[in-house]
Amino acid sequence: MSGIDDLPPLSRVIAEHGLVARKSLGQNFLLDLNLTAKIARQAGDLTGMDVLEIGPGPGGLTRGLLAEGARRVLAIEKDARCLPALAQISAAYPGRLQVIEGDALKVDALAHLTPPIAIAANLPYNVGTELLVRWLTPPEWPPFWSSLTLMFQREVAERIVAIPGSKAYGRLALLAQWRTRAQIVLSLPPEAFTPAPKVSSAVVHLTALPAPRFPAEPKVLEQVVAMAFNQRRKMLRAALRGLHPDIEDLLRESGIAPTERAEQVPLEGFCALARAVAAAR
Ligand code: SAM
Repeated sequence: MSGIDDLPPLSRVIAEHGLVARKSLGQNFLLDLNLTAKIARQAGDLTGMDVLEIGPGPGGLTRGLLAEGARRVLAIEKDARCLPALAQISAAYPGRLQVIEGDALKVDALAHLTPPIAIAANLPYNVGTELLVRWLTPPEWPPFWSSLTLMFQREVAERIVAIPGSKAYGRLALLAQWRTRAQIVLSLPPEAFTPAPKVSSAVVHLTALPAPRFPAEPKVLEQVVAMAFNQRRKMLRAALRGLHPDIEDLLRESGIAPTERAEQVPLEGFCALARAVAAAR
C-alpha cells in the first residue's frame, strides 16, 4: 500500500515491470505519490471532470488524479512497457482509467473525452512545447479544455508566464497570456525525479479565459508575434518589414514606436498591431 491508494509503491512497480527510464522518451519519473497527489490538486476540483493525461509512464500522476476524484482519466502513453502497470491502476479504479498506447501528437484524444475536460501531465520534454502550442491555438475559443496543469523544465515554465522587458518574454508568453490566466504553482528540484534531470522543473496552471483579453484575429496575431520575435534584437520597423509596406504607420497607429524592440511591447500592443495589419490588408 502506498498511502493514496491500495496499489504498490511506484519503486516496486518500476522494478516489477522493468521500467528502466529511456532518455529518448523524456522519461523522468515521479515516484513520490504525495507529490503526485499535490500536483493533481493544482488542477483544482476534478470531481465531475474528464482528465487528459499525456505520458502517464508508471502512473504516479495518474494515481494522484484518480485519488483526487477525477471522473475519468484518459492517458496516452507511447511506451508499451508501461501498459501492464497502468492496467493494474485501471483494475483498482474500475471504469475510470482508459489508456491509449500511442503518440500524443497523433492520437485524437477529443474523440474519447466528454466535457468538462482538464489536461494534466508531467510532459515529455521533447514534445511538451509543441503540445502546449497546439492546446493554445485550437480552431475555436473557448477550447475543448478548461484548464492545463503541466510540468515543464523551469526555463519553459518561465517563458510561459514571462512579462514584457524580460529575457524569457516571447511567443509562448503572448500565446498563453492572450487567452489564459497562467501561473507557476509549484517548483520541483531535479531530485524529485528518477532519474534526476540536469535542470529544475515547475508546474504551470493555465485556465482558459472565456474570451481573449484583447480582440485580434488569431492567425494574424500569431504571424505578427512570430515575425517580431524571430529577430528579437532588431527594431520592429525592420523585424516586421515583410509584414506590410506601411508597417511604420501601422506600428504608430497601434501606439508602438517603430524603433521599439519586440520584447518591450505588451500583449495589448501586439493585439492592436494585429488588428491594424488585418484592417490594412
Ligand atoms: N507521468 C509520469 C511521471 O510523472 O512519472 C511520466 C512522465 S515522463 C516525464 C514522460 C512520459 O511521456 C514517459 O512515460 C514517456 O514514455 C511518455 N512519452 C514520451 N513521448 C510521448 C509521446 N509522444 N506521446 C505519449 N507519451 C509520450
